[in-house]
Amino acid sequence: HKYVYDFAEGNKDLKDLLGGKGANLAEMTNLGLPVPPGFTITTEACKAYLATGREPDGLAAQIEAHLESLEREMGRKLGDPQDPLLVSVRSGAKFSMPGMMETVLNVGLNDRSVVGLSAQAGGNDRFAWDSYRRLIQMFGKTVCEVPGEEFEHALDDAKRAKGTQNDLDLDADDLRGLVDAYKKIFAKHTGREFPQEPREQLDLAIRAVFESWNAERAVVYRRQERIPADLGTAVNVVAMVFGNLGADSGTGVAFTRDPGSGAQGIYGDYLANAQGEDVVAGIRNTVPLQELEQIDKKSYDELLDYMARLEEHYKDLCDIEFTIERGKLWMLQTRVGKRTAAAAFVIAGQLVDEGLIDLDEALHRVNGAQLAQLMFPRFQLDHEFQPVAKGIGASPGAASGKVVFTSARAVELAAEGESVILVRRETNPDDLNGMIAAKGILTSRGGKTSHAAVVARGMGKTCVSGADELDVNVPAKKFTVAGQTVNEGDVVSIDGTTGKVYLGEVPVMPSEVVQYFEGELDPEQSDDALVKAVHRIMTHADEKRRLRVRTNADTGADAARARRFGAEGIGLCRTEHMFLGDRRELVERLILASTDEEREKALAALLPLQREDFIEIFREMDGLPVTVRLIDPPLHEFLPPLEQLAVNVAVAQERGEDVAKEEALLAAVRRMHEENPMLGLRGVRLGLVIPGLFAMQVRAIAEAAVEVTRSGGSACPEIMVPLVGAVQELETVRAEAEKIIAEVVGDSGVEVLIGTMIEVPRAALTAGQIAEAAQFFSFGTNDLTQMGWGFSRDDVEGAFFWRYLELGIFGISPFESIDREGVGRLVRIAAEEGRAARPGLKLGVCGEHGGDPDSVHFFHEVGLDYVSCSPFRVPVARLEAGRAVI
Ligand code: PEP
Ligand code: MG
Repeated sequence: HKYVYDFAEGNKDLKDLLGGKGANLAEMTNLGLPVPPGFTITTEACKAYLATGREPDGLAAQIEAHLESLEREMGRKLGDPQDPLLVSVRSGAKFSMPGMMETVLNVGLNDRSVVGLSAQAGGNDRFAWDSYRRLIQMFGKTVCEVPGEEFEHALDDAKRAKGTQNDLDLDADDLRGLVDAYKKIFAKHTGREFPQEPREQLDLAIRAVFESWNAERAVVYRRQERIPADLGTAVNVVAMVFGNLGADSGTGVAFTRDPGSGAQGIYGDYLANAQGEDVVAGIRNTVPLQELEQIDKKSYDELLDYMARLEEHYKDLCDIEFTIERGKLWMLQTRVGKRTAAAAFVIAGQLVDEGLIDLDEALHRVNGAQLAQLMFPRFQLDHEFQPVAKGIGASPGAASGKVVFTSARAVELAAEGESVILVRRETNPDDLNGMIAAKGILTSRGGKTSHAAVVARGMGKTCVSGADELDVNVPAKKFTVAGQTVNEGDVVSIDGTTGKVYLGEVPVMPSEVVQYFEGELDPEQSDDALVKAVHRIMTHADEKRRLRVRTNADTGADAARARRFGAEGIGLCRTEHMFLGDRRELVERLILASTDEEREKALAALLPLQREDFIEIFREMDGLPVTVRLIDPPLHEFLPPLEQLAVNVAVAQERGEDVAKEEALLAAVRRMHEENPMLGLRGVRLGLVIPGLFAMQVRAIAEAAVEVTRSGGSACPEIMVPLVGAVQELETVRAEAEKIIAEVVGDSGVEVLIGTMIEVPRAALTAGQIAEAAQFFSFGTNDLTQMGWGFSRDDVEGAFFWRYLELGIFGISPFESIDREGVGRLVRIAAEEGRAARPGLKLGVCGEHGGDPDSVHFFHEVGLDYVSCSPFRVPVARLEAGRAVI
């Protein structure tokens, strides 16, 4: 079994096996770019290790063989006392998990080879001892779980003794002393001396990388990003190159376009005389990449050339890590870079213009989750609000909330329902839970590539990084800025697009993308690159998609907005929402009616009100289908709460008042009380039990349609019966409805369809029979999920879903994204059997899943005609329906 690949043996398509980093190092090697030589240990070796707790047979020998060939290529032996080869050991999973797993640099250094390294570096003792102390520190922390602060403290002590704040002021002797101190710390915590044998160092570091796959923060990150838990990580063993050899050396990060806005140009950070993760960690302040031109023109030009070649090759935004060792440029990593939602659209549009990709590919490169982010509101700024600081707009959005300084406090307050902004000098992987809980993240240090920036962008969370006017004091739970002190609990607002920070809560307004969908921004006239790109890609999605997109709307205003957003009809008008407010009393009278006459009076009072509701909606949706669902929820929801009523009656009786009416009400409420209202007198059951209720609604719908049509409009009503489980239920309602429709519609030319929801599992399983009586099906995936899993939709998410997510029983709530295998199977069966019984049967979905990107793809696959979702989700569904085709 082949567990180890030389860089020259891999390519970018082997990410499953070599991880993203390994696959791309191989690709760059084969493109002829200057990559330090090395090899990759596969994810399969990692998986085997994690399964059995030991390295698989043959791995050690393969590593030996590849190490030997690396040594031959470099002309040096690992840890050789005279002229050592040093290597870095880097994790690299299939999906990038920034800072989540482990890296160990300078493997191969020991008490003897440190001298050889100094000689190699032209007698640079300082560099050699600094490299050695970094090895003990990283190795101690990541391989042997020595607490990192102990090393930090020892470093601080050394600086204090020297009277400096700057690492660079420590000389060779200071660093040699520090190595001794580090070794003692290492021995104290591990009960053994720091390993001197280079190969042992290498093997332990590789094992630590394997194990880091299951580190808690990596597990949390994967869950958040929905990365499967069983992929494992690859391990890259790479010949070391040094960015810390002096002023002619350095290390940096580069993007081929701005990952924030998508604008073309040169973006990145450079840090002279530094090694490894210094840039990403935001330890010292970096300079913009452009300044490298002054520092080292030759390397700069070379880097720009490679950036252009990589972008041409990958046909996408690339991000790059590089090191310059004494004027020689080395490429340490590249990958297709993460980007904000806005940048994703803008870059996709640019790449089409540049002829690198076509529109289908552009559509593939963006997604509905990104579009949803672009529809977030943004700050509405007037004179009242002046920023107190400006950092880097690291991840867009507008967030206000109470300031907190620790991850734990963020989690605590968020659980109480508060919006919080996590404020740190810089974040590290231990802050992950707090970052997830927070509305936004604000740091005083670090660039666009700092941990906070990268992770926040990945989560789609608002982030301002590097706001260096902020003086953050975490232990004192406060920060100062512009002469003011902000304490824990004070409210701030941060704009992740502009990087600006405001004190207090700034009001918000609709984003440009929403203004565009509202028809307030003309994409042809606009000079906004984002609006143009969104328009172009949406237009293409609309051309491609087969699925129609409707909306769930109960009012004329919602219907109108959804139509502007591109809705092609209403897939669900929930009529129960029309019985609230002033009309509640009428409903109460209906429920309490003890004679036919009383009931008919109550219904007659409701009829004209309902008719007006429908007229308004039919007018807004002129010419488009409107599915009106007959009333669904339990009637007791329209009555006063039992306890309150009981108290009122008791008090009134005490006072000797006439309580006959209240007593009747109380009796009715008692009669209708249900232990499980979701499984009680709802939907069609109500229609069968309360005479005249459905009939009134059907009449109101038909009369409204006739009126709209007579006045020159075009109404296309589709009456939908909820909660049907047996065809007989539907037949009964339908027979009555058809009579009323025939009578009302006459020769007006109005056509009214009658169909049913499929939201009870029994309906899905008897869909063939039900289709005989239904002109359309609409899947109510909310109830279908509730009854399919037996999960009360109002209770379970807060109660125990966290545990199910933790255990991986599902990766996302089945109420949010359709459970393809279970509930989805019910949909598939009903679609197939329904269409078999009635060819061409119209099929749609109106549960919340209709606006969920993954679910839209599923509904496309099973052949539904349309999805229906809330107005704001309509553009998302249009985009995803287009993406489902390509
Ligand atoms: C459903 O059950 O999916 C549905 C759309 O109906 P409601 O959410 O109103 O129960
Ligand atoms: Mg339902």
